[in-house]
Amino acid sequence: MNARGLPVHAALQQLVSDDDVLRFGGLPLTRLAQRVGRTPFYAYDRARIAQRVASLRAALPAGVHLHYALKANPMPAVVQLLASLVDGIDVASGGELAKALDTTMAPASISFAGPGKSESELSRAVAAGVLINVESGAELEKLARAGDRLGVAARVSVRVNPDFALRRAGMRMGGGAQPFGVDAALVPALLARIAQLHLDFHGFHLFSGSQNLSAVALAEAQAASVGLALQLAHDAPGPLKTLNIGGGFGVPYFPGDMPLDLAPLADNLQRQLHKLALAAPGARLNIELGRYLVAEAGIYVCKVIERKLSHGQVFLVTDGGLHHHLAASGNFGQLIRKNYPVAIGNRLHGGEREIVSVVGPLCTPLDLLAEQMEMARASDGDLVVVFQSGAYGLSASPTGFLGHPLPAEVLV
Ligand SMILES: *Cc1c(COP(=O)(O)O)cnc(C)c1O
Repeated sequence: MNARGLPVHAALQQLVSDDDVLRFGGLPLTRLAQRVGRTPFYAYDRARIAQRVASLRAALPAGVHLHYALKANPMPAVVQLLASLVDGIDVASGGELAKALDTTMAPASISFAGPGKSESELSRAVAAGVLINVESGAELEKLARAGDRLGVAARVSVRVNPDFALRRAGMRMGGGAQPFGVDAALVPALLARIAQLHLDFHGFHLFSGSQNLSAVALAEAQAASVGLALQLAHDAPGPLKTLNIGGGFGVPYFPGDMPLDLAPLADNLQRQLHKLALAAPGARLNIELGRYLVAEAGIYVCKVIERKLSHGQVFLVTDGGLHHHLAASGNFGQLIRKNYPVAIGNRLHGGEREIVSVVGPLCTPLDLLAEQMEMARASDGDLVVVFQSGAYGLSASPTGFLGHPLPAEVLV
């Protein structure tokens, strides 16, 4: 849906159908809503997800392995679909691990990262035969003990906290303190310890941030990650088999955001593959993407309950809100609230248009899905659509807040 070359909100305004109704998943939105049977709901478009993976694969060198970071959208049907399209799945909890193991993905292509893994999570992961990204020396000891109990050499990679960090504006040196990964300076000692234990060493994992729209900054971080990993590999207890350099590919959400330019990333990844082939023949290069694969393939749909005036301003009060879609309300880590692309799905352009705020049913001013946005003049029963909602939607929202029902979720 994101015609390259257009900022996101403009691109979404190009979605026109003959009857002025949004088409999604091959159906007019009104028909899709009838199919679901209730509002609010999330809908994810199977064809768009497949198309996104295909176009990414076409753009990137074939040697790059593509993993899905499951936390972006853990709906089982979505995970199952992606399992058939990507090369691996990355999980961050025992619950996510179980979901990934329920798919057709081979356990050897599933990896498990995240701080604070419990003994039970580690034990289950070792038994399953997945790759575990260790986040600390203490975790490494627990992992080795779990392997001993099960009589299995746990498959392990070291998650490195590098001495650089990717920020919105570019890369900077001095990554600093964080609860994730092992500080680069402490990695050689950890590698020496791995050599003493009964473990199957695979390689390294370096996280390269999230939601970055600068290909130059991302390419710089990827190059730095490969460089650091090759340096650390000198002290490794075995050959480098897997190098996961994270993802960080961003998606346009806000007015003026432009889609990520893949061409410079592809060029850079080609160079990194070459470096890797020379220094660590046989090592596999993985990138792990969450939102980039699913965000643009999803919408959140809620219904206008009432059109209300206050001091001359129009509020569309809907049955959906921040309890289902925290990110669209601007409260999921955003510093400044900006509007996601929002439209009236059953009258995209409409006749009369007006400036409105779209709010939810919660008794808090935070429950805001659109603030003073122009859209078609809506009335009760109309369908409000929040675009770019396929990632960090339902599972990243406080669904228990105020006790409203859960939304439906469909893959179409
Ligand atoms: C969350 C996460 C990702 C995915 O981030 P996106 O912004 O959704 O691409 C990748 N790697 C790790 C380790 C993560 O925790």
